[in-house]
Amino acid sequence: MKKRTNMTIWELFGKIWKYVIPYKWLVVATLTLTLISSLFAQVNAIVLDRTVDSVNALVTAKDFAWSKAARILTIISIVLLGKEVLTVLIGFAQKYFGMRMRILVSRDLAQAVIEKMLTFRMAFFSANGNEPGKLQTRIDRGVDSLTNTVNNVFIDLLPMFTSAGLALILIFAANIYVGLTALFIVPLYFLITWLQAKKLRGWRREMRSYHEQKSNGIMNIIESINVIKSFNRERIEGDKQLDLQIRLTNNQMATRKVSFLFDGLKSFVQQVGTVLIIILTAYLVLIGYPGMTIGKIMYHIMLFSNVIAPIRQLQMIFDNMNEALVYAEGFFDILDSDDEIEPSGGYKPSTVRGHFEIENVDFTYPNGNKALHNINMTIDPGKITAFVGLSGAGKSTIVNLLDKFYVPDSGCIKLDGVDLREWDTKYLRENIGLVLQKNHIFDGTVEENIKYGKPDATHAEVLMAAKKAYLLDQVQNLPEGFNTKATLLSGGQQQRVAIARMFLKNPPIIFLDEPTASLDAVATEQIKNSIDAIKQNRTVIIISHSISQIIDSDVIYALKEGRVEQGGNPDEVYKQGGIYKEILDASARSLNIDKIARTIGDGTGEQ
Ligand code: ADP
Repeated sequence: MKKRTNMTIWELFGKIWKYVIPYKWLVVATLTLTLISSLFAQVNAIVLDRTVDSVNALVTAKDFAWSKAARILTIISIVLLGKEVLTVLIGFAQKYFGMRMRILVSRDLAQAVIEKMLTFRMAFFSANGNEPGKLQTRIDRGVDSLTNTVNNVFIDLLPMFTSAGLALILIFAANIYVGLTALFIVPLYFLITWLQAKKLRGWRREMRSYHEQKSNGIMNIIESINVIKSFNRERIEGDKQLDLQIRLTNNQMATRKVSFLFDGLKSFVQQVGTVLIIILTAYLVLIGYPGMTIGKIMYHIMLFSNVIAPIRQLQMIFDNMNEALVYAEGFFDILDSDDEIEPSGGYKPSTVRGHFEIENVDFTYPNGNKALHNINMTIDPGKITAFVGLSGAGKSTIVNLLDKFYVPDSGCIKLDGVDLREWDTKYLRENIGLVLQKNHIFDGTVEENIKYGKPDATHAEVLMAAKKAYLLDQVQNLPEGFNTKATLLSGGQQQRVAIARMFLKNPPIIFLDEPTASLDAVATEQIKNSIDAIKQNRTVIIISHSISQIIDSDVIYALKEGRVEQGGNPDEVYKQGGIYKEILDASARSLNIDKIARTIGDGTGEQ
């Protein structure tokens, strides 16, 4: 995936625009209401100006009358209270519509990224930097900060500028010199805000990476808690996190320090502006400048703070937006990376025979680990083909390539004579049943888990599949039967759920990657019988360390360090010597076959 760096604000707008369009009426409604309430903000200044002047005039007038005073106060009260009632109502509607838009946009963004990620090829998920915890943080923080930006840009920005602009017009209308003073302060304020954002941006990127590492670390701890505890590694794991926490908090402190310094500077600049305006207005009053009264001092200060307040808010928006830019980079790297989408051809034959040919295949994992070298093999339907080899030899990797989870670096894999690249990927997988060593049980009941590959299966079909996987009796004996939560089953039972799922799907091609590794001997034998029964007219590939399964296969391929060392009929390959013989002999020794034979013999008296 190509990493985008330094996204500009305009690029960001361009990208979030389409998530806002569906809610344009909510935006228009909220915006209108926000505009109205920002206009209302000016009312206080105007009323105050009039009040001071009118009361002043009344006090100094010769014909003072309470009735006049009462009239003025009544008008002021009605205007101010009326304005307040309207503000409350408008405020409610504005917040409600605004929040509704935020929630909906945030939902759409999250859903879009999830749906996009589901289309990605496996290479994306095994690439460095895409560990589950990191991806989760990138998505969560991306959605949060983008939603804030949507609100800032589409709701807050326009009313803010309007309200600052209106206050500036009023200030100029009141007096040109005061207006010019305000106008001199504003760019200074902007400059400081801009410098602050620039300084913080690098730290923010660092912070994003710390956040990703932190949540990935927490996930890893939870996933491996039993290992951590059994090795008494709590302290060491804690210290690993502490190191990260210290870097994170140092970064936070540095960011805050800079923010506080700049905030202080801005307050000072604002205060300087206020002082200048007081001095200027007082001077104008003192020299008897036309229209200047004491009331104007308050009026000008209020207007000036009405100019500065939105700009202060702008600083917050600027801040949010800078944060969003940093997080949006990671977020849109996922959402826009079409090069990660799983490739698919259009080939969908009506029947799949299941004849694989692998020709000169090399393969390297995204992290640069070259796992396969010049692999050549043929896999026939109606036979059980076993892959043997030590751990890490590349057996699962071949299965990954046959399931089109990854694409070879070079060479070609054909199924029924057609390059896998040309096959419709979904159709191909519909025809492949995959049972892995690590169970893949989802949150849900046993029945739901068995039905995972065939959601429309009937209960009877589920029972039949469970029976074939030797799971039926065990599940029926549970208090909640097939409604038991599948995650509560034992490892071996979960494995059988996976096998039952495969039986239910009933595909022509079956890949079994150490399917009986977590089963007891009796279950292993039962499953072996089922697999033997299912192999007719199907392609079965089995990766197994179980000697009985290997020896019973029709063809074996022995792999060593990513290369095929031997291939053919198990007995013949054994006679050749080599890795297969080594493994088989070692298995036999480890099983202590001689002694087992003696024990069995003694017990039955047959030997
Ligand atoms: P086997 O199934 O024979 O035990 P694998 O096919 O799982 O071996 O692994 C072959 C090699 O590829 C090993 O060196 C393993 O570490 C590496 N490998 C497996 N999966 C990945 C992955 N997702 N990313 C990088 N390397 C991998």
